[in-house]
Amino acid sequence: RAKLLQRAGHFYFSRSMGVDIRERVRLMHALRTAYEEKELFVVYQPQIDLATRKPVGAEALLRWRTKDGTFIPPDRFIPIAEYSGLIIDIGERVMREACRELVRLRDMGYSEFTISINVSQVQFRHPRFLDTLRNVIAETGAPPSRIELEITESIAMEEPDVLIQLLCQVKQTGVSIAIDDFGTGFSSLSYLQRLQADRLKIDRSFVTEITGSSRGSSIAEMVIQLGRNLGLSVVAEGVEDERQASILATLGCPLAQGYLFARPMTVDQLTTWLKDNGAR
Ligand code: C2E
Ligand code: MG
Ligand code: MG
Ligand code: MG
Repeated sequence: RAKLLQRAGHFYFSRSMGVDIRERVRLMHALRTAYEEKELFVVYQPQIDLATRKPVGAEALLRWRTKDGTFIPPDRFIPIAEYSGLIIDIGERVMREACRELVRLRDMGYSEFTISINVSQVQFRHPRFLDTLRNVIAETGAPPSRIELEITESIAMEEPDVLIQLLCQVKQTGVSIAIDDFGTGFSSLSYLQRLQADRLKIDRSFVTEITGSSRGSSIAEMVIQLGRNLGLSVVAEGVEDERQASILATLGCPLAQGYLFARPMTVDQLTTWLKDNGAR
């Protein structure tokens, strides 16, 4: 079943296109209902300081659990949400919830803790995006300096000047920017500098390669170097075992996130987890 869902997520046209389009339309309607009936919720995956092994923040990740208890993975429904425009409302809700959680954690004493929020290209480019961001910050009272927006490299590709101006305005609110899945896109290095990103996230595929061949770590190594040279923070994604973690630490990677440390969890689980894992 999981495999089937995974394949559907990539829109394989295994039988006929008609079947696939009907399925997408069905999901689009289901997603609208899901949004209205609160089948969508946010989970949080801790991010760890590799030197101290203490949590420093968490990434907000969206989940869809249908009434019959089936989980539909984001890789499958996010593209549909983008295609249908629903991502605008859904994304705003994620942002608001994540900011509320940030305030809650701050009030519990985790004053340095950060929350990272994934922002889709469609959402980011929407004319209302900046207003939405400002409103959510004002309404929730979340500290902008503890909010990070994750955008993918592909956002960066078109109309660079328009994008850079928008990024400037976004950064003026005080939030920071991370480039998600870094290394999987094609943005040039000079362009990266113009983006004014604060952080790079090494894609999981490069983390997996670290323990493979002798040259397996070269991309991760390069991103860590690049981060150091440009003065950017670096997070390794999808760290699943101790060997990967220790190689990354040796390479000087400051931060990591992955199943080795913690899986994405609900807000209640996060509270307990942070207590047990010595967050500040
Ligand atoms: P992403 O932002 O790159 O998120 C990292 C994904 O890797 C998450 O998958 C996370 O659960 C998974 N992951 C973390 N550690 C490990 C590990 O050690 N091993 C493995 N195998 N996987 C790990 P998830 O939650 O299924 O999300 C998939 C993608 O969906 C995200 O990739 C992001 O692009 C998108 N997404 C999720 N939530 C949102 C959202 O609220 N808004 C938008 N626009 N996109 C979202
Ligand atoms: Mg992300
Ligand atoms: Mg990623
Ligand atoms: Mg991804």
